[in-house]
Amino acid sequence: MFRPLDWLLGLFSLDIGIDLGTANTLVYIRDRGIVINEPSWVAINRRTRQPLAIGAEAREMVGRTPADIVAIRPLRDGVISEFEITEAMLDYFIKKAHEQMIVPFPRPRVVVGIPSGVTEVEKRAVYDAAISAGAREAHLIEEPTAAAIGAGLPVNEPRGSMIVDIGGGTTEVAVFAMGGIVVSRSIRVAGDEMDEDIIQYARNKYNLLIGERMAERVKIGIGSAFPLPEERTMTLRGRNLINGLPQSVEISSIELREAMSPSINIIVDTVRDCLDDTPPELVADLMEVGICLAGGGAQIRGLADRLEDMVKMRVWVAEDAMTCVARGAGRVLENIDLWQRSLTGLHRGSTHH
Ligand code: ADP
Ligand code: MG
Repeated sequence: MFRPLDWLLGLFSLDIGIDLGTANTLVYIRDRGIVINEPSWVAINRRTRQPLAIGAEAREMVGRTPADIVAIRPLRDGVISEFEITEAMLDYFIKKAHEQMIVPFPRPRVVVGIPSGVTEVEKRAVYDAAISAGAREAHLIEEPTAAAIGAGLPVNEPRGSMIVDIGGGTTEVAVFAMGGIVVSRSIRVAGDEMDEDIIQYARNKYNLLIGERMAERVKIGIGSAFPLPEERTMTLRGRNLINGLPQSVEISSIELREAMSPSINIIVDTVRDCLDDTPPELVADLMEVGICLAGGGAQIRGLADRLEDMVKMRVWVAEDAMTCVARGAGRVLENIDLWQRSLTGLHRGSTHH
């Protein structure tokens, strides 16, 4: 049915999809693409807990701040540890995205992707933050669902599909059919834990103390989950734990693979575990369509090969793996009725609740 008023409003409506990730927050605006992609960091005054900087600016302050300022990641472990700080962050990103529009007057409709483990109270906090930031309508969607939609998986169809979303703080594995999640797992092992593994390895093998950023840099540089066609090396810089002096060590991709294996193994086992619990009909579907990887951690070299080797089915990395959740959340707004089943409880609907 043609509704002239809806059509007219549509011309002025602003639809925003947000990925409130443990490591990065992305904002997608329909017809414009990704307009914000910043670390989920907030710098606060240690005493008053007042936010001082958010996003990229806050991350820059890490390790460089005076003692009374701390930079935190309020969603680090996939749970919202600090409501007010998360609210401040969401408010900042929505307003920033809104300001980028040429005509910023219509109040946006917002879909926020949230980690699947969050409680009702946390959902409420995210919903309220979106409304108080000026959204005229806010919806919440679980991240694995948004990731699957963004990756183009047929989540609304009867046949099964599977997503493995590897972020900073959490890895989410989910099998979908008919718009719903049939089997899922959420673990607090993902990119951050790999960095942690590398820090441990450098300490144990070389008595070398390295920082999180250094660990992440080598992980992205030469980290892998499966033997590489050509193994490589990179320089680790840190401080020697025995004499306290600066030191650098050449590390090979073979060593790094060994270093990262504890967390990689946990992720791989979780995928297998999830498959074991998947009904046979859906497993048969998966053998046809395969398994899709999304999130920053999906880009670890050889991870798809490693999984493929184990599960004996096709495993591939989604196109633009790091933006799947934001794009998927945005796509929901194109036809909200179609995705009703995928939105998460409580606060679907608008401000009139
Ligand atoms: P979240 O959804 O939790 O915010 P992201 O999907 O943004 O997380 O992924 C962030 C994680 O991905 C970080 O741990 C980061 O180190 C890792 N990452 C980003 N790019 C790469 C890459 N090319 N190779 C391996 N890991 C990567
Ligand atoms: Mg994510």
